[in-house]
Amino acid sequence: MNCRYVPFITLSELKHRAWITLSGCNFRCRGCFSIAREQRGEPMSVEQLVALVRRASARYYGSEQLEEVIITGGEPTLDRDYLVQLVSALNDFTDWIVLDTNGYLLDESYLKELISAGLKEVMFDLKAWDEAIHRWYTGHSNRRVIANIRAAYGRVKMVVNTVYIPGIVAEQEIERIAMFLAQIDVNNEIDYRINRFRAELSHEKIARNPYDDEMERAHALVARYMRSAVIGKSCVHERSVKEKRGWITVFPDGTMKRRTLDDYRHDNYARVRIRT
Ligand code: SF4
Repeated sequence: MNCRYVPFITLSELKHRAWITLSGCNFRCRGCFSIAREQRGEPMSVEQLVALVRRASARYYGSEQLEEVIITGGEPTLDRDYLVQLVSALNDFTDWIVLDTNGYLLDESYLKELISAGLKEVMFDLKAWDEAIHRWYTGHSNRRVIANIRAAYGRVKMVVNTVYIPGIVAEQEIERIAMFLAQIDVNNEIDYRINRFRAELSHEKIARNPYDDEMERAHALVARYMRSAVIGKSCVHERSVKEKRGWITVFPDGTMKRRTLDDYRHDNYARVRIRT
């Protein structure tokens, strides 16, 4: 039975929306703050995972139907058959399936297969424009990621994310990425999001947190090239909400816990079982 390790899934308090976290990643980003970079949680088949999502949704929302499901990680694309089957199975109870990926493995044929299975949107990370910076930061070349973003344009709704890392991925890098995206984005369809580096959470202490004026300058630079520049909040899908939000974490055994963003930061390393 084909399985991926799942530390938890998450439900929104605002809408009928779920995030599925598939752990394990092919990148080794120095600034990563995901608890799912390593293989964590319980091994789950597609059937087990979809059953968990359906049960949790029915229990929390009173309906199995979801407005949106976001598949994230870690890196969701590591097992192609698993991901295609998952998208296909989710398609029965949601109209909008989003893939959050570093984009390295998502070539044209893989993306086409996912779109045929029901995928509607891809959130790509483009972590750096300069090849040497990208290799240093992730352990991999960015040439495949750039080619895959280019090939995906026009096939699926796209969001592109970059983390602003002072002194490493700063204004010059972000401007180069914006120029590249503007060049392919002939219909102004790409949503480009600049996220803050989080020094206190990152695997390696490579930089400080960006200042507000640095983020604003980067945003202004991007706005010269693109209409849809955004300074990221914790989630692009819930960024318009101002009050302190919480999410419902559902663990593989079905237990639920409401957590705020602060709780996530505090709890995750302690709560999630580590497998090596
Ligand atoms: S691609 Fe994402 S999960 Fe993987 S190491 Fe980089 S930041 Fe972490």
